[in-house]
Amino acid sequence: MSPEPCEVMHLLIQADVDGELEPAEAARVAAHLDACPACTRMQTRLLDLSSRVRAMPRHPAPAPLRAAVRAKIAGSSAHYGLAARHWRPTLGATGLALAASLAVFAVLPRGDTMPDWIVAAHIRALQPNHLTDVVSSEQHTVKPWFGGRLPFAPPVKDLAGDGFPLVGGRLDYLPGNPAAALVYKRRQHVIDLFIWPAGEEDYASGAGARDGYNYVRWQGNGMAFWAVSDLNPKELGEFATLWR
Ligand SMILES: [Zn+2]
Repeated sequence: MSPEPCEVMHLLIQADVDGELEPAEAARVAAHLDACPACTRMQTRLLDLSSRVRAMPRHPAPAPLRAAVRAKIAGSSAHYGLAARHWRPTLGATGLALAASLAVFAVLPRGDTMPDWIVAAHIRALQPNHLTDVVSSEQHTVKPWFGGRLPFAPPVKDLAGDGFPLVGGRLDYLPGNPAAALVYKRRQHVIDLFIWPAGEEDYASGAGARDGYNYVRWQGNGMAFWAVSDLNPKELGEFATLWR
């Protein structure tokens, strides 16, 4: 059997860590990991993140965050048939992130694990039907969609004129933060732009890579921004420059 591409495996590894794979798929992952040190390192990082979440002390989340999470759950199960289908298969991973948001608001040391979280959230979103809760190329549709679903109003821009069309948005959860995720395309590449209110602990501008994915981070107008994609660093940098 020819080796399976690592990009495909990333999706399966994420699901495997969340305990969501059928035995046959889990066996495919195990066979790939036997032969691929890079994916094995990625699995190790995901397992480490997962165990950190489980080991974290629990503190009550602030009311706006609880309200945002309730709105997400209610929206998924009630008004949005589409979103409900997105929600269900992500329950393992999203449930974990959700538990992190609820249990450890403002407790998790951000340190250098944030790129791991960002890349993990991006890979999770790339799984079928996870990418967007609202599908629209219209910033005037996407921006109000976040209203009432998040305790902050993320800025939304379309960069279609510059070759980075906006394709939609979704709610996501990163440690300590419900986040807006704006989804852009560059040719066949997906760019996730995560946005949340910047805290003092957030990073200054920078860029880097994890597991074959590139990221660029910056802050502006009280918000933290993280763009992540398998797009090359040069074009992702252009995206960030245009966005800022
Ligand atoms: Zn691999």
